[in-house]
Amino acid sequence: MTILNKIAAQPKIETIITKMSHGHDIIIIGGGPAGLSAAIYAGRFGLKSLLIEKAILGGLASTTFRIENYPGFPEGISGIDLANKLEEQARLYGAKILYGNASAIEIEKKFKIVEVDKKTFKTKAIILASGTDPKKLNIPGEKKLRGRGVSYCGTCDGPFYKDKNILVIGGGNSAVEEAIFLTRYAKKVSIVHRRDKLRADHALAKQARSHPKIFMLWNSILEEIKGSERVEEAVLKNTTTGKNSTIKTDGVFVYVGSNPQTEFLKGTINLDEHGFITTTGRLTTSQPGIFVAGDVRQKTLRQIVTAAADGAMAADEARKYIEEAK
Ligand code: NAP
Repeated sequence: MTILNKIAAQPKIETIITKMSHGHDIIIIGGGPAGLSAAIYAGRFGLKSLLIEKAILGGLASTTFRIENYPGFPEGISGIDLANKLEEQARLYGAKILYGNASAIEIEKKFKIVEVDKKTFKTKAIILASGTDPKKLNIPGEKKLRGRGVSYCGTCDGPFYKDKNILVIGGGNSAVEEAIFLTRYAKKVSIVHRRDKLRADHALAKQARSHPKIFMLWNSILEEIKGSERVEEAVLKNTTTGKNSTIKTDGVFVYVGSNPQTEFLKGTINLDEHGFITTTGRLTTSQPGIFVAGDVRQKTLRQIVTAAADGAMAADEARKYIEEAK
């Protein structure tokens, strides 16, 4: 099933909400690998869990064409297949899934109230697993040409770039992984990186550097994206010489990191200066009974395997909290 089909197949929010009961042990906010793993573990602990997802189950992982570093899949697994398996396993253990946007949390004595699309849900504990979303460059042309040559998802939009020339912006794992993926379609993929060394893991960087369709534009910053109906040109600044140059391109794929999805938590949960949730070794937050898992927390290694591990640990900590509060 493709990502677009998966989105289309999702039941309407109103249909699900009217069928939902309001007493939960744990509400999990976010349906990526961290949230789904938390739901699997909560179910196995015999806890009633409700998982809230605003977009697509599997989170950012589901937009990855091939995951090669998740243990147990030596031949790799597609992001959408892994997401489907995690969802199946979470449902098997009784997790209820609600598609909606969690917009606020209130603390009411021993209970917590989560607001989702103007409805409220009461719970004993919460696991925050809301993940991150792609950073924008905020340069001229980026917003205007989004969806018309500017993309943040190679897996979704790659097939539109058959035999085209495209730019991938960034030097991290996402940029390099997606650049390699995009060579399936594009004639030429140029990675535009602001330094002369990739941030991506050694194995990925080596693969990209030796790929016949991938070219490196080192020490370069994208300053502007031009085009009337679609992307036509990109203005690059060379950071060594300070000179600008304009090159023809059919598409610009942006992978310059991600922002935590924590806007709705401001004032309720302590965040660090970048907006990530501050936590402890036991995945607690500044509010008792509210735990955190996955990319949205302060951590050093953001991977599917660490997100899944967080989900399991957070569910276990939530279980202990609920038992102690009895
Ligand atoms: P990232 O690791 O933070 O890399 C962002 C890249 O964008 C860096 O190379 C950075 O340059 C560059 N950059 C940032 N702001 C920029 C700007 N304004 N203009 C131009 N370039 C800019 O982000 P990510 O690649 O999205 O990965 C996020 C996390 O997910 C990481 O922890 C990563 O390891 C993980 N991840 C893992 C995998 C995997 O293991 N297969 C796949 C995807 C993501 P500098 O290098 O100069 O800072």
